[in-house]
Amino acid sequence: MKVLPGATIGVLGSGQLGRMFAIAARRMGYRVHTFSPLADTPTGQIADIEYEASYDDLEAIRTFASKVQVVTFEFENVPAATVEVAAEFVAVRPSGHILYTTQNRLREKTFLSSKGFPVTRFKRITTLEDLKSGLTEFGTPAILKTAGFGYDGKGQTRIGSIEDVEKVFQSWQNEELILEAFVDFQCELSVIAARGLDGNVADWGVIENTHRNHILDISVAPAAVPEAVAREATSLARSVLDEMELIGVMCIEFFLTRNGKLLINELAPRPHNSGHLTFDASITSQFDQQLRAVCGLPLGSTELMRPAAMANLLGDLWSNGEPDWAAACAIPEVKLHLYGKIEPKPGRKMGHLTGLGRTRDESKSMVIQARKALVGADLTRYGLA
Ligand code: AMP
Repeated sequence: MKVLPGATIGVLGSGQLGRMFAIAARRMGYRVHTFSPLADTPTGQIADIEYEASYDDLEAIRTFASKVQVVTFEFENVPAATVEVAAEFVAVRPSGHILYTTQNRLREKTFLSSKGFPVTRFKRITTLEDLKSGLTEFGTPAILKTAGFGYDGKGQTRIGSIEDVEKVFQSWQNEELILEAFVDFQCELSVIAARGLDGNVADWGVIENTHRNHILDISVAPAAVPEAVAREATSLARSVLDEMELIGVMCIEFFLTRNGKLLINELAPRPHNSGHLTFDASITSQFDQQLRAVCGLPLGSTELMRPAAMANLLGDLWSNGEPDWAAACAIPEVKLHLYGKIEPKPGRKMGHLTGLGRTRDESKSMVIQARKALVGADLTRYGLA
């Protein structure tokens, strides 16, 4: 069923992804209700109505779901029971079973490998013996992760040698764990793709990502990878969406190994930080497309109008006071996005910059220099002032 402009869309979660979705939805004449345990949130500041209640408050979820025409989410750790209750009233897109699979790294990697998608070797860990035998099998270093509720490197540790194993296991043993073979990658890539109600799939091509302290730092599109790698990555991504029969947007994160092999690291069944640059650089952004897909409208063009780069703005930038916004805006092809978060904390995503140059290198250096300018580095040194 199509949900047309004028209708109300419910968003589970209230962060920056919901905010940018709500901006896209309001622009097309939809109304937006958001639901999360918090108030005055990035999404709530844009939405018509902000529900402040726990995800476990199923009565509040019933009220929320009964007043909207479709539900989507911007945060994937919403409990399965919450989605089930919402689905009694209205379509939830992507559906609860996709959320269930992607909420847990073990379920996600098991699904991917069972369908023949390439992933690093992994093993479920429940005892110290499992961990020891996993390390013998995969070698060191290896990465131990919690199976659930991990993001931005939270809930993971690198095990450097087999001697460390007892200490590491002691501090983690109450969690459901997955051990992954370490991937010696040349770069990290992502493909964001959308699938509509009619089964059509569209992708934005390959985006190249660099992380700092496990948090995404810079994304550049299109990625500087050989054509064959780009073709393979987009084809794998599209197959994942088809295989899951997803309605909405999904990010597929990849490692490109030193010998040129692609491995899927993670799936996120929603718009992704690495796709924020599509907001300014593409004919249809990932948020516009999420709206079209969940409302049953035809997908829009994902063509990139300019090579683009995105730099995240973390709370750390506030350590010497309010950043100098005017200095970043002094580069005319840089766009500033702030998420309306009140309290800047270290590691907290407060906003981002998008640079739209003539080449990807120019776009990348623009956002890096603009970010430096926020904290006082002299732009004239870079020929950009
Ligand atoms: P994740 O939370 O799984 O996305 O991991 C966060 C970051 O940790 C990734 O973007 C990689 O930089 C690194 N990482 C995660 N898993 C592995 C792995 N198996 N081998 C090497 N690096 C990894």
